[in-house]
Amino acid sequence: MTGSSPTKHDNFAQTCRKIRMLLFDCDGVMTDGHVVLGNDGLELKFFAAADGIGLKMWKKAGLLSGCITGRASQGLERRASELKFDELHQGVTRKGDVLADIMKRHGLAREEVAYIGDDLNDLSVGTRVGLFFVPANHHPSVRPYADYVLSSRGGDGAVREALDLILDHKGLIEGLIEGFINQE
Ligand SMILES: [Mg+2]
Repeated sequence: MTGSSPTKHDNFAQTCRKIRMLLFDCDGVMTDGHVVLGNDGLELKFFAAADGIGLKMWKKAGLLSGCITGRASQGLERRASELKFDELHQGVTRKGDVLADIMKRHGLAREEVAYIGDDLNDLSVGTRVGLFFVPANHHPSVRPYADYVLSSRGGDGAVREALDLILDHKGLIEGLIEGFINQE
């Protein structure tokens, strides 16, 4: 990455225009990374409403979404169902293998997939996609591999920022906002 630019891509707009699927990690990306563990197996995570609205726009634009995560929780299952994720893979130890399977089933080329991950267990996906975003709260060890450093933190709009950027470069944002105005 050069200077103050958040991306090392000279042709970031063109890179965004090719994206058909956005995948992301859960802890530290959809959430701030904290997990509240209570009695009787209760597990709580905080999700951002702004990411939810963004993912609804993403869906309206006919694009694919999904989550690949090492942990497994009912909260994420519910979030994925509410937002109609195309893919949800929990309790994953080899994320790169899951990515390969997803790309094969959806017929996606590397440059058509973007991923958001915050830590070392995301590198097996981040280094195999066309566009690797990291949230502001990423671990420093993943930064050299990132294509774009988001200014938002996980659980606080990181997913929304990434998909807004892609939708904007695809020229779709205005029409999607019109859709909200017209209650479509
Ligand atoms: Mg994580």
